[in-house]
Amino acid sequence: MVSRRQLLALLPGLGLPVLGLPAPLAAQPAVPPPATLPATPPDRLVLLGTGGGPTPKALRAAPAAALMIGGRLHVLDAGNGAARQAVLAGLPLKSLAHVWISHLHNDHVADAFTLPWLAWSGALTSPITVHGPAGLARMRAGWEEFARTDIETRMADEGRPDLRRLLSVQEIAPGVLLNEAGLTVTAARVEHPPLADSFAFRLDWAGKSLVYSGDTAPCPALIALARGADTLVQEAMYLPALDRLIASESNAPSLRAHLLASHTTAEQAGEIAAAAGVKRLILTHFVPGGDASIRDEDWRSAAAIAFKGEIVVGRDLLTLDL
Ligand SMILES: [Zn+2]
Ligand SMILES: [Zn+2]
Repeated sequence: MVSRRQLLALLPGLGLPVLGLPAPLAAQPAVPPPATLPATPPDRLVLLGTGGGPTPKALRAAPAAALMIGGRLHVLDAGNGAARQAVLAGLPLKSLAHVWISHLHNDHVADAFTLPWLAWSGALTSPITVHGPAGLARMRAGWEEFARTDIETRMADEGRPDLRRLLSVQEIAPGVLLNEAGLTVTAARVEHPPLADSFAFRLDWAGKSLVYSGDTAPCPALIALARGADTLVQEAMYLPALDRLIASESNAPSLRAHLLASHTTAEQAGEIAAAAGVKRLILTHFVPGGDASIRDEDWRSAAAIAFKGEIVVGRDLLTLDL
């Protein structure tokens, strides 16, 4: 009987992909490698998913944003499907180094461990850290049990390294979280009740800066973190459409009050960007994210009331140079 491992060894001859196979099993390259390695890919931001809230939507994927910095891939929030969106964007999952989870709502945390797991199923063999609020280590323990059969099978059958040794979890508090290879990542605790822990992240590198709001109502901590940043990636909701949606709910007033206490309207997004003095405002985590009748211009004009800098209305897979 031919084992799966022997079968995999045959794959190169069949012209099938062998990404991630250990060296003895990998095909010899048909074309010699270039004399010089390709330049590090340009720093860029890719919005992987831009629809806010837990409900899967036809119009927008779940929240996640990718940052390629110095050839290393960072993913900010990991809504369901983040790995697939990264592949659609042409991002090299094997370069995944850090996942930053703003808070533990499922639209942000659903794939926190599935993303590195699928990257490892591809070609990832280097360490990866998932950073996020208290509770993440407990989630990791549960996920390890969930993934155990697959990990142990692929280690034995395909010769892969132990993902559990590659993967670290860092539960975070406000302050500097990472200082590595010219990149500093700083977190601020923002306001997303009833959750006690919800974080915004700021990345500073090579004279550039980007702030990611996560989910939050407008708050001084976010404005302070975003002060003078090149780019603010900010959640936004569109109140007129929300009012239409919730009008039929019996608890409409309290629902509206809850949304306003824990999220940011598009107008307020502009106010935050103006108060922080950022150069560019990128709107994402759209609520409602499934309403095709809301035009980009509706989001933009609401934010532009207060903010006179560049406004980008996000969409899935939008790529921006940094
Ligand atoms: Zn959310
Ligand atoms: Zn949330």
